[in-house]
Amino acid sequence: MIAVVGRIFDREGVGPGYVLFDDRGRVVERGKEGTLGLTPHRVVRGAVLPLMCNGHTHLGDAIWGREPPHPPLAEVVRPPHGLKHRLLASTPRNEKVEAMRETLRGMEGGGTGGTLDFREESVDGIAELEEAGRDLPLHLFTLGRPRNIQDPEEVGRVLTRADGLGLSAYKDLPPDGLERAAHEAARRGKFLALHASEDEREAIDPILALKPSLLVHLTMASEPDLERVRDAGVAVAFCPRSNALFGRIPPLHWAEKLGIPFLLGTDNVMFNLPDLFREMEFAYVASRLHHAAVTPETIVRSVFVNPWELIRKPEMAEVQPGHRALALRIPLRDLPYEVVARATVGDIISPIPV
Ligand SMILES: [Zn+2]
Repeated sequence: MIAVVGRIFDREGVGPGYVLFDDRGRVVERGKEGTLGLTPHRVVRGAVLPLMCNGHTHLGDAIWGREPPHPPLAEVVRPPHGLKHRLLASTPRNEKVEAMRETLRGMEGGGTGGTLDFREESVDGIAELEEAGRDLPLHLFTLGRPRNIQDPEEVGRVLTRADGLGLSAYKDLPPDGLERAAHEAARRGKFLALHASEDEREAIDPILALKPSLLVHLTMASEPDLERVRDAGVAVAFCPRSNALFGRIPPLHWAEKLGIPFLLGTDNVMFNLPDLFREMEFAYVASRLHHAAVTPETIVRSVFVNPWELIRKPEMAEVQPGHRALALRIPLRDLPYEVVARATVGDIISPIPV
């Protein structure tokens, strides 16, 4: 057993204490500082947090990895003829599954306990993702994408298999098909997630009329748009590194000011490693570079708390016996800043990679 003594952060807040871990990385006991009774093998000073949850990935993109080309973003990622969709269509199934599995292993070893994944390729794509994640201790929240949103039968099959729909943008889709799909997702109590205002500003009201559960990017959204999103109670996932590759910066500062409890996502695996330490650091540093600083506390919540609450797994954002948790050997002088701007996977004591 390992005891980590120092600070504990979870959805209840931050405070001093200790956490005992078993050899499989599960929390055995949590207690107040100075009350450690059992004798562990090792005592380490550090911080314990919930596992991280990635607010937006495209794991299927793991089949490819190069410097992003410079054409407009749409030529790379837009369905059905963008580069990534041609690659997905031409790669054998077993290669896709293996690439996703390798990525998931890396995420797990890097302290991530879950991801909200937009999986293209309809029911087949979801089945591939499930196979890739089999027996890995990582919560996959799957958002599937029908090939034809106008086909109610296909939409129904995707919704039966997945946690919801993960669609491209409102402007790319026929409004009537989208409305029917949104209605069906709501009827089944499933998620509707969409990309929105990524490379150009989209009118926000027709999007909000669909009653989405989650909007991704909002890079080009105006402040009044964000106010409307906040008033509608819709969650937002920001992807700062992914946006930066194409010359954009998401409005984290405004979201914080407006009280939108956002998530952070690493987006396309082909361009960005799904490493939330890197994402947190970039999000923070880039916000200061643009004179629109966001606080480390807000960023910590966007990775360790908000996503778990959004997918209705709030217990995953608690450090409690029986759960897995992230233990870091880091200085404790300024915990949120250490976690956001200085911690790396090299600081992880637990979980031990599978
Ligand atoms: Zn995306």
